[in-house]
Amino acid sequence: NDVVLKVKNLKTYFHTSRGKVKAVDGVDFEVKRGRTIGLVGESGCGKSVTSLSIMGLLPKSLAKIEEGEINFNGVDLTKKSENALRKIRGNEISMIFQEPMTSLNPVFTIGEQLSEPLKQHTSLNKKEMKERIIEILTLVGIPRPESVYSEYPHQLSGGMRQRVMISLAMICNPRLLIADEPTTALDVTIQAQILELIKEIRDKQNMSIILITHDLGVVAEMCDEVIIMYAGKVVEKADIRTIFDSPKHPYTQGLLKSRPGMSASGRKQDLDSIPGSVPRPDELPEGCTFAARCPFAMGKCITEKPPLYQLENQLSRCWLHEVEEKEEVKCLSYY
Ligand code: SF4
Ligand code: MG
Repeated sequence: NDVVLKVKNLKTYFHTSRGKVKAVDGVDFEVKRGRTIGLVGESGCGKSVTSLSIMGLLPKSLAKIEEGEINFNGVDLTKKSENALRKIRGNEISMIFQEPMTSLNPVFTIGEQLSEPLKQHTSLNKKEMKERIIEILTLVGIPRPESVYSEYPHQLSGGMRQRVMISLAMICNPRLLIADEPTTALDVTIQAQILELIKEIRDKQNMSIILITHDLGVVAEMCDEVIIMYAGKVVEKADIRTIFDSPKHPYTQGLLKSRPGMSASGRKQDLDSIPGSVPRPDELPEGCTFAARCPFAMGKCITEKPPLYQLENQLSRCWLHEVEEKEEVKCLSYY
């Protein structure tokens, strides 16, 4: 079986004093072996909540998976106990986060921190663990791995810390890596090196990746397929070429126009960013959630939620496709 992860109709809601908040509202996708899928959108679109749902790391008192399935290796993770999920996390599914300084523990050496997942998920003895740690530090391109083994996080640069985070995620050879803005905190040169490294490891281990980012430059570098999320829903899904060559959803088109370019001084600069902001999940409009920011909004967009249309090369959730539907476009799901 080629499919490593299949997410079906995932709905993750937050329960707050103001009522139910639909942070993720019916998301579907699958990830194949050795492939990378990008989850793209501005912050507050539901990308991170999707990944925390997969990892079983939602804040228990607040958030709950209300509906849907997360099939990994043939088992539905939404039905698994906390204990069973702990055996999978850091072992078969790993995650790397944006900010390595907050994810590494300042009071333990790199060697001690890398030993943890090995103690938890393997039966290696001390000597074998150290060998594995040196091996993985070498794999992620850390110079002098023997001495870094005994060093503390603050003794390393930001780029080196992110390499350590990657080695921590990779040490048990996961089948699936979830990378949430893995390079956002790093400068452009280091960012390119880290992305290159993740790709190399992916290809070597035939690992699958879910890459969460707001940066379409990173997507172009890394992904085979892209899901664009807006206000908790998938608004467009396509392969990488289609997303860049013929984006169909107005939000995707806006994101592409606002891609940061590079100025002569090598600094990133925002071009036309999309005016307005993502609506709060507890204040979603009645019709299309993108209507307030959309240059093509029509009367119907204000009052009725658009369905997800199956177009020739992609899925797109927009009333503009209704006209085309009369020809051969199929409508997939209504709200
Ligand atoms: Fe814009 Fe209407 Fe399409 Fe929403 S449904 S993206 S408002 S055109
Ligand atoms: Mg996020």
